Amino acid sequence: MEDKSQRNLETQVIHAGYELDKATRSVSPPIYQTSTFAFESAEQGAALFAGKEKGYIYTRLGNPTIEALEQAVASLEKGVGALATSTGMAAVSTVYFSLLEKDTHLIGTAALYGASRTIIETEFVRYGVTSDFVDTSNLDEIRKKIRKNTRLLYIESPANPTMALTDIQGCAQIAREHGLVLAVDNTFASPILQNPLELGADVVLHSVTKFINGHSDVVGGIIVSKTNELQERLARVLHLLGGTMDPHQAWLVLRGLRTLYLRVEKAQDNARKLASWLESQPKVAWVNYPGLPGHAQFELMKKQMKGPGSMISFGLKGGYEAGLKLINSVKLCTLAVSLGGIETLIEHPASMTHAGVSREEKEKAGITDDLIRLSVGCEAYEDLRADLEQAMGQC
Ligand SMILES: *Cc1c(COP(=O)(O)O)cnc(C)c1O
Repeated sequence: MEDKSQRNLETQVIHAGYELDKATRSVSPPIYQTSTFAFESAEQGAALFAGKEKGYIYTRLGNPTIEALEQAVASLEKGVGALATSTGMAAVSTVYFSLLEKDTHLIGTAALYGASRTIIETEFVRYGVTSDFVDTSNLDEIRKKIRKNTRLLYIESPANPTMALTDIQGCAQIAREHGLVLAVDNTFASPILQNPLELGADVVLHSVTKFINGHSDVVGGIIVSKTNELQERLARVLHLLGGTMDPHQAWLVLRGLRTLYLRVEKAQDNARKLASWLESQPKVAWVNYPGLPGHAQFELMKKQMKGPGSMISFGLKGGYEAGLKLINSVKLCTLAVSLGGIETLIEHPASMTHAGVSREEKEKAGITDDLIRLSVGCEAYEDLRADLEQAMGQC
């Protein structure tokens, strides 16, 4: 059989996970909108439950439409398998529930997605899980916090909303030395720009709500494992916790996935141009974008990513007040949280996505009051620049 993993990424993203349905030769994958699957006999039902025969039983445990999405993302992320979840947070919490236990310790990126950190600090703490959230872009900060009971190193790179990168290969080395599992939230990069499993990570997860689905119309998540052992462990926990995806949701995400390469390329092209333009503006104080040659981690970006992506954060010289004025004056960019959709979104993390993080922790993570986050979409660059230009004129 032809080895499809050898094909170019832009081809894989369009074809992975689906072979023409034998019965109908439907070009688009069928939606198996069913909660349960009939057994041919009592004996077959028993064999399926005993794992002696392969087949579908019940949609929480497996469904062909969901599996099409899982296989597609597993192949893009170069894992042995994937598990689609109802939301990104269902993916995050399944990873935590599977890999942490009573009296264990986690080290995470300080500027982690807000809820991924909050659930550890307010819920898992009730089960005796302790944590340290550090600036993982400095590997020594990680080393300093390792304890005997540390089990999980959980990182986001690029981090939200500072765009700070973490050296994934460096983390993998630390994880191997200390017997930790390395999990990477790859939402910001998407599988097009970064493949953490190839850089030594054990588990990679996504909020597919963002780039993978890409149309701001579905929430969902996915977890990809490097080994069968991890895949089985995560599947067991996910099937018990129940945060699985729905077949119709999976079909929508798979449809979104098919244009991921095109969208990432176009949005990244826009972001590169916008970041340079922003840098040249007299009212702009600073721009964080790993694609700018002046960015502190430009070399690391080139080493571990295929491109800098389409998330930018920046601050105006007029600080918080000017930033709010800018956000309130845009006409094409949409004021909304979330990211990775075809439309450009703008938001103010300190009062919105990261409002739940304490002032002290925000400062440590570099989430300043003047920081504006831009998720650059696929509109024409000239229109986006003109919108920001007119809005900046109001500041
Ligand atoms: C949005 C997001 C999540 C959570 O995903 P939901 O789909 O909103 O549950 C997790 N990690 C990152 C980096 C995100 O951007």
